[in-house]
Amino acid sequence: MDPARTEHAEGHVVVRSGRIESVGAGPAPDLPDAVRYDARGCLATPGLVNTHHHLYQWVTRGLAADAGLFEWLTTLYPVWAGIDEDVVGAAATAGLGWLARSGCSTSMDHHYVFPSGRGDLLGAAIEAARTVGMRFLPTRGSMDLGRSRGGLPPDEVVEDLDTILAATADAIDVHHDPGPDSMLRVGVAPCSPFSVSKELLSEAAALARDKGVRLHTHVAETLDEEDFCRREFGCSPVEHLASLGWLGDDVWFAHGIHFDDSAIRRLAEIRTGVAHCPSSNARLGAGVCRLRDLRDAGVRVGLGVDGVASNEAGSLVTEVRQALLTARARGGPEALTVRDALETATIGGARVLGWDDQIGSLEPGKQADVAVWRLDTIAHADVVDPVAALVLGTPPPLELLLVAGRPVVERDRLVSLDEDEAARAAVRARDSLLARAGR
Ligand SMILES: [Zn+2]
Repeated sequence: MDPARTEHAEGHVVVRSGRIESVGAGPAPDLPDAVRYDARGCLATPGLVNTHHHLYQWVTRGLAADAGLFEWLTTLYPVWAGIDEDVVGAAATAGLGWLARSGCSTSMDHHYVFPSGRGDLLGAAIEAARTVGMRFLPTRGSMDLGRSRGGLPPDEVVEDLDTILAATADAIDVHHDPGPDSMLRVGVAPCSPFSVSKELLSEAAALARDKGVRLHTHVAETLDEEDFCRREFGCSPVEHLASLGWLGDDVWFAHGIHFDDSAIRRLAEIRTGVAHCPSSNARLGAGVCRLRDLRDAGVRVGLGVDGVASNEAGSLVTEVRQALLTARARGGPEALTVRDALETATIGGARVLGWDDQIGSLEPGKQADVAVWRLDTIAHADVVDPVAALVLGTPPPLELLLVAGRPVVERDRLVSLDEDEAARAAVRARDSLLARAGR
């Protein structure tokens, strides 16, 4: 995924002090005292980059399984109202652990439900990322437009503007590390046009720019949202956001399904990014993102699993295949090549997160975030093209995942935590949450 798209049929990657020192053809040079991984039969790619997620939703999977977005949301808001620090910690540990198992080395998190008095919810997700060993971009999300003020969420899950802005500034001041070796950057992410006031959108943009961090929200996910914006604001969701300072190269939007041609042109001009979440969009029947049109226009596009309550799989490598199949189902066989699909999940995602100077490709000087996929088992061994095997085949066993040179996954198991205990903790968190919601 370097600019020349270099591939080596047999090759090596040398890592030193968390960064890639060299990448080349043939066996690695003889380095005394080096730890060596024999990856014969495997494909090495950049670690995948996840550009949209809601980790707390891990423990609310399988609910409203046949509903569209607004019905799904109104079913789940009352359940989410019960989350606390323990629930978020268990959900984020399981969610990030499973993402790592799917080759993902960097993930964002969009957390926007903060019932009062439930502990440090953002801190719980950050601690989970440290435990798993992943590079992390949590965003301090928010909702302030409850039902009594014309929004979609019930009033008990929204906060007031001053509380949101103070907590968001605090999250950045405490956690954001802008340095080149950063494992943790923080962003600002009000939830969506139908759950957030105009004041919050414009104040959040001003805060993010003042602090030098990135801005994120959901846009153009469903036609219900389009109708809501036309009724409430007299314009499309993108026009609404643009009027409040929300276009720029520091902004990325989740979904972007219902963009018209002029919105796509505008996003390309202003270099705003899009997190494409094909499984979630299909699961909710929301529509099909115009991926080919976005790429042709020059819009930066990455992939996201989205919150796993609308994508029970939570696997990023699965999204690569889904993105390719969805794009071709919509736009024909030339809509997306297998290598373009892999690009979207790697350097494409890194560009969307504004992190492409450090991650997203295997190049000397970059962070040593490397996924090593085993392609010599019955599922893939005879596939002629290893990239096609990865993108079109069943998700391969993950032989190794390095993040900043440290092993996070070895032989399809997480290195730093007990997966079975993480699964049991997720079940306990789900049970307590459902009990609280009276379900
Ligand atoms: Zn989402």
